[in-house]
Amino acid sequence: MPTPRTPSVAARRALALAAALAALPGCQSFKLGGLGRDAKPDVALAPAPPAAPALPSRFTFRLPPYCFISDVEMQPDAPLFRDLAKLRDQVYKELQLPAGSAVVQVYLFENKDRYEQFMQARYPGLPTRRAFFVAQPRTLGGPEDLLVYTSWGASTQQDLRHELTHALLHSVLKDVPLWLDEGLAEYFELPPENQGVNPAHLEQLRGGNGMGGLFKPDLSRLEALGEVKSMNRPEYREAWAWVHLMLRTTPEAKAVLTAYLQQLRANPNPGPLGPKLKAVLPDPEATFEQHLAGLDAGPKPTARR
Ligand SMILES: [Zn+2]
Repeated sequence: MPTPRTPSVAARRALALAAALAALPGCQSFKLGGLGRDAKPDVALAPAPPAAPALPSRFTFRLPPYCFISDVEMQPDAPLFRDLAKLRDQVYKELQLPAGSAVVQVYLFENKDRYEQFMQARYPGLPTRRAFFVAQPRTLGGPEDLLVYTSWGASTQQDLRHELTHALLHSVLKDVPLWLDEGLAEYFELPPENQGVNPAHLEQLRGGNGMGGLFKPDLSRLEALGEVKSMNRPEYREAWAWVHLMLRTTPEAKAVLTAYLQQLRANPNPGPLGPKLKAVLPDPEATFEQHLAGLDAGPKPTARR
């Protein structure tokens, strides 16, 4: 099974931790505690991990709704931050959601080694990925803390767009089904000029390699996946393609997705989306294949892959 290329999963589904973050100038401070909503008992009962390497703390930079924290000095007018400043509006406008106001804490480690050391010590049950989003329930209830971890590197912009999309969704929705969470993050992870097209995914899907050469789109199968470990490269690709189909084919298909997201604002489990899509697309799988066949791969991504 290939290692997922994609940077993250919504790690909230398998987390157990107890740690306290130091107060950070210019940022919201809070305590981590308690368990992820779907934390497994074997994880929850594990002894506390040894002290994790320190979080970055030297520099903080607020760019609402994000608070970036790094040991590397950041330039607020850098292209990376100008791009991320627009991401919130892009996501909420395209998905027709009201903007959230929750602070998203973004920890940017100075290099991959320090990031991985921290993650392995603090979140020992998680697979190795380039970046993570964590929605951490608070011990005393209330809104979840929204945390992003990654390191500086060639893929920082793409990884942050992906993870911050998760954070933006979780800041306004009660929950997000795993497949949809990843499909939307994949859709928004490349710059707006890509029009949501991920050329690498498109090439793979057109080549029939989505599922080991036997790819057949199957939204009901995707919707049944509830475990982070069951989402791998083929599932990320297919989730992206279903999201792109809904957002970029017909107004009716887009309305199915936006109505579903509106439901998720109040109801964490509104049931499967597939039957609603079938009501406006009689043969969704055929439409899926036609849509991919007709897509323009668009501008090539910059040299991050
Ligand atoms: Zn993700």
